[in-house]
Amino acid sequence: MKKRVLFAIFLSTLTIAVSTVTFSLSIATTINPYYLIVKDITGGKATVSLVVKPGADPHSYSPTVSDVKALSKADLIIANGLGLDNAYLKGYTNVLYLGDKIPDAMLEAEISHDDDDSEGVNPHVWLSFDFLTQYIVPSIRDELIRVDSVNAQIYRANATALLKSLSALSKKFDSLLAGYENSVVVLDHPSYFYLFKKYGIVILSVEEGHDKQPTISHIKDIITHSKKSKLLGIFVGPQFNRSAIDTISKELKRKYYVLDPLGVDSQSITDLLNKAYSVIKEAANGASEK
Ligand SMILES: [Zn+2]
Repeated sequence: MKKRVLFAIFLSTLTIAVSTVTFSLSIATTINPYYLIVKDITGGKATVSLVVKPGADPHSYSPTVSDVKALSKADLIIANGLGLDNAYLKGYTNVLYLGDKIPDAMLEAEISHDDDDSEGVNPHVWLSFDFLTQYIVPSIRDELIRVDSVNAQIYRANATALLKSLSALSKKFDSLLAGYENSVVVLDHPSYFYLFKKYGIVILSVEEGHDKQPTISHIKDIITHSKKSKLLGIFVGPQFNRSAIDTISKELKRKYYVLDPLGVDSQSITDLLNKAYSVIKEAANGASEK
């Protein structure tokens, strides 16, 4: 008798468990900044996974077997495009390439001194407030609403809140960097390119294009140019080799700062950009003490 009661209880809990399982959108994102944005907008209404783990270099990444499984199971894949993640997403039709939403005229050619190379564009579009607020966040919001209209109101409200905080943060950068026109930043890799370019800041990148080792003469050029200019700061991403930046930093007698383009330990895209703000501010304060 007791057993039967228990079994009945077990059955009824099972029914409840089954009935609460409703459709949940499964989204795979290629890089961490998009993972953070999608998590923010979906607010728990979708399952979100990340393909290229923070700390790994998205330029040299190739998917593992489990990554391929996650990509195949996803209802929607959110990617950057512009050559960053296109190669391993060729076989998928459900991909939102955010870079394709940005007008070509607003994108910059990747700095390259190889004449024979077919020139790509700088793919680091998530590090521009203008791109984030005008194209990236609205495109993600609209695509989520299109594939999961039941939660449209939630996606819309969360996106609006995110856009608001990004706009506020963008104004903070405006007041920090507006006076630095024609100053120079030295970057290991042209990731924060669009952010600095907005203020007329000159970007000297150790890596020219991707997967290219800098030549000694290129490093010398950076040092010469920096010595003649007002140097705002020297920055390196945590994902990259620091030997060239170390040389430049010693030669210019200026400390270098770690500026993370992917948000290794960030909780949100605004957290990622807030950390960037603090680092750039610290470098700028260090520069003005010179
Ligand atoms: Zn890059």
